[in-house]
Amino acid sequence: MAQLYQTAAGILERAQRQQGAVKSLVYNSKYTNVKQLYALVCETLRYSGVLQEIISSANLLKEERKLKMSLAKVLVYDFLFGKGLKCGGGWKVTLQKHRARLQAELARLKIKRKVSRNEDLLTPVEGATEVLLPRYVRVNTLKTSTEDVIDYFKRQNYTYLGRASSVQELGRLSGKQFLTDCHLRELLVFPPRTDFHQDFLYKSGHIILQDKASSLPAFLLDPPSGCHVIDACAAPGNKTSHLAAILNNVGKIFAFDLDTKRLATMSTLLLRAGVTCHELANQDFLQVEPSDPRYSNVRHILLDPSCSGSGIVDRLNQLTDDMKSSCEERLQSLAAFQKRMLGHVLSFPKVQRVVYSTCSLHQQENEDVVQDALERNAAFRLMNVLPSWTQRGLDTFCGARCCLRASPAETLTNGFFVAVFERKREGGECSETFSSSCNSFDAEDTGVEREPVLAAVSTSCKKKRKKKKSKLE
Ligand code: SAM
Repeated sequence: MAQLYQTAAGILERAQRQQGAVKSLVYNSKYTNVKQLYALVCETLRYSGVLQEIISSANLLKEERKLKMSLAKVLVYDFLFGKGLKCGGGWKVTLQKHRARLQAELARLKIKRKVSRNEDLLTPVEGATEVLLPRYVRVNTLKTSTEDVIDYFKRQNYTYLGRASSVQELGRLSGKQFLTDCHLRELLVFPPRTDFHQDFLYKSGHIILQDKASSLPAFLLDPPSGCHVIDACAAPGNKTSHLAAILNNVGKIFAFDLDTKRLATMSTLLLRAGVTCHELANQDFLQVEPSDPRYSNVRHILLDPSCSGSGIVDRLNQLTDDMKSSCEERLQSLAAFQKRMLGHVLSFPKVQRVVYSTCSLHQQENEDVVQDALERNAAFRLMNVLPSWTQRGLDTFCGARCCLRASPAETLTNGFFVAVFERKREGGECSETFSSSCNSFDAEDTGVEREPVLAAVSTSCKKKRKKKKSKLE
């Protein structure tokens, strides 16, 4: 039990140092009762401000010099608001010494704030407003069809409103209504807080609960059935299972990940989803030899590397004190890793199309990584994908608007970034694409939708070219 408190305190510290999201820190701790640990961490975070006030006014840390604030918060939480410190070894004895004073400080705080219940002490944390995203449900076409799933939900008394015509329509869903997404045909959209974790279709792998933004990478890589694909950072495997569905289980997915525990989860997920066309490898992708004959037919690669996760809407992370300010040093090191990974991916001799994605909001991990790759790899350029997607890459280099960005406010998804690279065709340019140099943009028509987005990119590029030229003159 003392270990429970120590582990919870360690997680609070690591979350505050931005060493990971609360959920994954709990999951990755070696503590056996994950549920109990998660509940304790969450509740301590909720009461964090109140606990700090009580601990300070009771002079607890001054009197118990060995006690750190994070551990004090966990212990005092359980003592005053939780189960009452049933165990805790030496720390239980210590807290009991201060019992009367801690209880008195809690009572004093309630009088000061004119409340009678502990719950009423909780004030909304600044910036920690709950962001409600629609519930996205990806139909696993390896096991069922969109039509069958729609019928199933209709039988569960849900009202099907057809295919959405805009993102705004997704935001207006309420009660038991649902829609087909306006961009992805295999994505059904329900009102926020709809929970399908206990639903038969989820438990049997017929549906996958996956955010819309995170469904974009496989959709945009779009490998033809029968081909060979690499998923370079694959665990826990939602995008791999999506790729398998697109391949219809015909072909091969070489899926790599460094993390054994995440790979074990991935095996379970893929089994449930009926994926059979994969080969899992617990391997550092940077050590995979591009010229290895096993990968000689790989033409499509998905790279979704570790990132800061700053785009993930998670109220718990907002509750950890300084989550908003991102440590520059950490970002630089993540960006350096992402650049190495992307460079490695682009060195596969036969690769034709590469999708790079992150769930980060930071330019350093997104546009900057893409720009670096374009500058180092003249054989590749960006594809101007999904022209109807309104939120584009930050305009930091020529063609950056070919990339997609996603956010709760504009696309009703988690924060996300996607770029699609394509190998230039020998002796010819592709129409809807950009490489590192503005000059390689051309507007020849390939029959791809010509929407205002493409025109906007083109204009911004022309402006930049003009600016560059006048500088030279
Ligand atoms: N694509 C996954 C999905 O959709 O479920 C999520 C991938 S997660 C953002 C990044 C993953 O990259 C982590 O599981 C991490 O273990 C893995 N990773 C980090 N460095 C790696 C490396 N050098 N080689 C292979 N995998 C790596």
